[in-house]
Amino acid sequence: MAYKIVAKKLNSLTPYEIDDDRKKQIVSELFLQVEDRWETEPAEKDIELFTLKELEAAAANIKCGKAPGPDQIPPEAVKIMAECLPNWILAVMNNLLEKQEFPNKWKEARVVLIPKSGKLQSSVNSSRPLCMLNVLSKLLEILIKNRLQEELGGKGGLHPNQYSYQKGKSTIQAIEGVIETVRDYKCKWTQRKMLLRVASAYKTVSAVALQIITGTIPIDVLVKERAYAHYHRQEETREVKERARDNSLIAWQQRWESETVKAQWTKRLIPIITQWINDECMYCGEEDTAEHTIFKCSRWRENRDSAYHELGRELTPETLVMTMITSDTAWKTTFNMIKTIMSAKEKEEMARQERERREN
Ligand SMILES: [Zn+2]
Repeated sequence: MAYKIVAKKLNSLTPYEIDDDRKKQIVSELFLQVEDRWETEPAEKDIELFTLKELEAAAANIKCGKAPGPDQIPPEAVKIMAECLPNWILAVMNNLLEKQEFPNKWKEARVVLIPKSGKLQSSVNSSRPLCMLNVLSKLLEILIKNRLQEELGGKGGLHPNQYSYQKGKSTIQAIEGVIETVRDYKCKWTQRKMLLRVASAYKTVSAVALQIITGTIPIDVLVKERAYAHYHRQEETREVKERARDNSLIAWQQRWESETVKAQWTKRLIPIITQWINDECMYCGEEDTAEHTIFKCSRWRENRDSAYHELGRELTPETLVMTMITSDTAWKTTFNMIKTIMSAKEKEEMARQERERREN
């Protein structure tokens, strides 16, 4: 069965025939000639020769079952050589190391052009080149690479932003990192712009202060909060949301405490964020919103009832505006109800804060 599938695939491929000139042209376009800019300088200190242990480790890294390079020596043969004649191979490698040479012959590769399906054969992009290097050259490469890694590891390793030639790191991760940074910056900028308007603040007020004053969680903390809720979406929603919000407030408070440059004046006024942004209704503990205050909170039931008697209908967010514009009296009744509630609430809130201050 497997044989049939493969045979069918191979038969369906159009024969790949191009003349030698075209091959040369494709290869020269795929592999741009670069000037050899490397100049070997004498080593600053004596180079320690490769040891048998290093050779053993490098040979173990050679993969079997791969096609050989131009010298036609298969990887299996190199492995056996390293095992049976280690001193001989080690002498060759150390000779090259001491001379600081990498043989030109070992830089040559056997190139096979694999046609990409659906592409015109005439274009350079129609082929995917496969390069087979001499396995002995790979052995020297691995020996040097291991040395470099050890050297770098001893000096604290590579920079975390080094992505290429790094195990477990990819270009995609690097790109994601860049996008993340830009998005983060853009979000922060947008939030600041928005908060400047909300707080009607002067344009030099820092974002940190604006977030505190308006009780707006910093955007990056909020993003993490949403992500947390998303990852735990299988659990009970309300509980997850509360936990996520608690985490955000803790993170925000910690950040506020460690802020030593910006918004120092605001910090003296509002040292504890939760006391400032407390969003629980002080009468019933429900979430304190405009809707809650005007239409739901039991503290203002009397005000609502008397407005109901005067208007002859119940107020809801949906009917509020329509009711207000029906007549002058209706406008005044509604307006007065809201105004009375708001000023009473503000007064009581001030008194509550004063009490709290005295208690502490
Ligand atoms: Zn309430």
